[in-house]
Amino acid sequence: MAWLAGLLRRIVALLAALLASSCRALAIAASKARAAPRLLQLPMALAGPLLFRIGYNLYAHTRLGYLFYKRQVKKARERYPHGHSLPQPAVFSGMKILPIPVLSNNYSYLVIDIDSNCAVAVDPSDPLAVQSVIEKEGVTLEAILCTHKHWDHSGGNAALKRRHSSCRVYGSSYDDIPELTDPLSDKETITIGRLNFKALFTPGHTVGHMVYLLDGKPFEGPASLFSGDLLFLSGCGRIFEGTPETMLASLDLAANLAEDTLLWPGHEYALECLMFANLLEPENPFLLQKLQWVNQQRTEKRSTCPSTIGEEKQYNPFLRTHCQAIQDAMGLQRQSGEDWDVFRARVLKEVRLRKDVYKAN
Ligand SMILES: [Zn+2]
Repeated sequence: MAWLAGLLRRIVALLAALLASSCRALAIAASKARAAPRLLQLPMALAGPLLFRIGYNLYAHTRLGYLFYKRQVKKARERYPHGHSLPQPAVFSGMKILPIPVLSNNYSYLVIDIDSNCAVAVDPSDPLAVQSVIEKEGVTLEAILCTHKHWDHSGGNAALKRRHSSCRVYGSSYDDIPELTDPLSDKETITIGRLNFKALFTPGHTVGHMVYLLDGKPFEGPASLFSGDLLFLSGCGRIFEGTPETMLASLDLAANLAEDTLLWPGHEYALECLMFANLLEPENPFLLQKLQWVNQQRTEKRSTCPSTIGEEKQYNPFLRTHCQAIQDAMGLQRQSGEDWDVFRARVLKEVRLRKDVYKAN
């Protein structure tokens, strides 16, 4: 069987290389296509997205994706034995939110109802890291809330479910979430002890992406949004399984939450996202202030979450498609008679494309 293991290792390595290169390939193909002879422009422009599509489908829909994820976990544990960032827990009256830095830039979360000692894990991607926090806190894991099927958000479901057999696994029935026990529909609530979460359907990144809104009132605090790959500090997830229109509607839903809602995203991307946003709005004072703070935090390897929805609306370009400054930066103008949301979706599409290219550089 050694030959089979060797073959599998090679396939996983190939997949890793393909995924790593696909974003870059997309950007390079797009820029080169513009400069290439006319005959070659179309095939070159298609090559990047095609490679990306192949890599994405292998990752999201095949066993190879799981093997790739396992490799990511192993490498991250070697590289960051204590996590990629220093987490900043939030403690309220009777409730705690503990960010758990996992893989190379993901966050899982453990939300604890202190009175009942019940805990809920959000997107537990590295089961060992989450289990170690569960043990340290001495709590009972009652539920896993999964935002979407990607392995870096759902890869720990099976191992934790094996260890905590009564634990329920919640998520959208539209995504293939591992070990799902309780499929959710839009606006359904989940109650664990005094923790009340509302599941909100936010497709775009994946076809069944959901975010979870925790009611802060029982704990005399603000609400908390666990946003997975919908919304990051100054960024948003890639639109893998939807249209810009779908993603815009999902982002609007987040933007319409109370301003003081705490944002707990699925990744630590703050510095890169703010640097990109700074290119679009170099004069935005809120952005400059946040960039300075994030720079300091990241120099000390501190986590940058949470921010708030109110803050995000001041600098996150993906929540600012209605702003003239962002439209001007994209060189886009509303056509006469064009529907406002159709226009904003065009702006969102362009911001997203530019961010993809920016990341690739
Ligand atoms: Zn994802």
